[in-house]
Amino acid sequence: MAQESKPALGWAARDASGLLSPYSFSRRAQKEDDVTIKVLFCGICHTDLHVAKNEWGNAMYPVVPGHEIVGVVTGVGRGVRSFKAGDTVGVGSFIGSCRACESCAKGYENNCPALLLTCNGVDYDGATTQGGFADVLVVNQDYVLRVPEGLPPAGAAPLLCAGVTVYSPMVQYGLNAPGMRLGVVGLGGLGHMAVKFGKAFGITVTVISSSPRKRSEAVERLGVDAFLVSHDAEEMKAAAGTMDGIVDTVSAGHPLLPLLELLKPMGQMVLVGVPTEPMVLPASAIVTGGKRLAGSGVGSVRDCQAMLDFAGEHGIAADVEVVKMEYVNTAMERLERNDVRYRFVIDVAGSIGCAAV
Ligand SMILES: [Zn+2]
Ligand SMILES: [Zn+2]
Repeated sequence: MAQESKPALGWAARDASGLLSPYSFSRRAQKEDDVTIKVLFCGICHTDLHVAKNEWGNAMYPVVPGHEIVGVVTGVGRGVRSFKAGDTVGVGSFIGSCRACESCAKGYENNCPALLLTCNGVDYDGATTQGGFADVLVVNQDYVLRVPEGLPPAGAAPLLCAGVTVYSPMVQYGLNAPGMRLGVVGLGGLGHMAVKFGKAFGITVTVISSSPRKRSEAVERLGVDAFLVSHDAEEMKAAAGTMDGIVDTVSAGHPLLPLLELLKPMGQMVLVGVPTEPMVLPASAIVTGGKRLAGSGVGSVRDCQAMLDFAGEHGIAADVEVVKMEYVNTAMERLERNDVRYRFVIDVAGSIGCAAV
C-alpha cells in the first residue's frame, strides 16, 4: 500500500536576512528503498550560513538548512536491508547522486555532477530538498550512514560534514601514514576535526592559525605537537620545508605562498575551505620542489562510513556547543564571527516545536 507524505516541522530562512523561523512542510512518502529518520541533532556548518543568506546566489526560499544530521530510524521501506527501526544513523551533505557517471561508478559520488544536496537541492521528482533543522527526514538507504554505538550523538553530528571533509583527503593523499608531518590551517569546526584524526592516526600535527590566543588550547587540550602563528614570519620561516602535507580549512581569503613554503619537496596541500574570492597562486611556489595543490569536497559515502567507523573505534567526536532550536539565529550570528568552540549542534528533537524568539 502506498504511504502518504509525512508532515514535517522545520526552521527555514525566508529571505537574504538569513533569519530562521518555524516552517511546516511535508516529506515525500517513504519509498521501497527509503529510510525514515527522526532527527535528534543537527550541526551548523558554514555552508548553512552561506545558503540561508543567499551568499552564493542560489537559495531557493524557504530554505531549511542542516546537513550534519544524526537521528534514529523510525521506519524503512520493504527493500531496505541494512537499517531497521531504532538504529542510530547519520545523513551528511548529500542524499543522492546519478549512479551512472564515472565518479559514481568509482565510488566517489561526492564528485557527481548531479549530486543531490541534502538542503537547497532539487530532488529527482522536482521538489526542493529541505535539511536537518527539521523533525523528520526521508532518505534513500544508499545515502544513510551507520553511526557507531558509543559515539555521543550530538558530538557525532559534525562528523557527517566537517569530519569527512578533512578525513577523506587525509586518507586519499596518504597523509595518515605513520611518520607523516601534517599541517592544519585554521582551528575551527574543520580544523579541530583534522587535529583529532591526525592524532588518532599517530602522526605529527602542527596547527597554523592567525590567532595566537588559540595556542594554549591547541597544545594543551587538543594535544597538537606545534603551533604556528601564520603572520609571524620568523616562526613560519623556521618551519619551512618540514611538512609532508597540509589541510587548509580556512574559508576566508588568505595567502597561499607562506603555507606552500612549509611543505617538503613533493609535499601535498589540500584546500577544503572555500573562500569566495579567487586565491593567488605564484606558480614558482609549487614548481620549485614539485609540490602539489589540490581541493577536496566532503567525501564519498564509503569514506564517510569508514570515517565514522574509525571515529567509533578511537572515540572521536566533535567538541560541540549544544543549543536549542530557538537559539539558532544567535548561533548563526556567532558562527559568522567564529565565536564557537568548535561546532554548534542543535538539539532538534528536544526543541523543534518551540516558538520563535
Ligand atoms: Zn557542511
Ligand atoms: Zn554520478
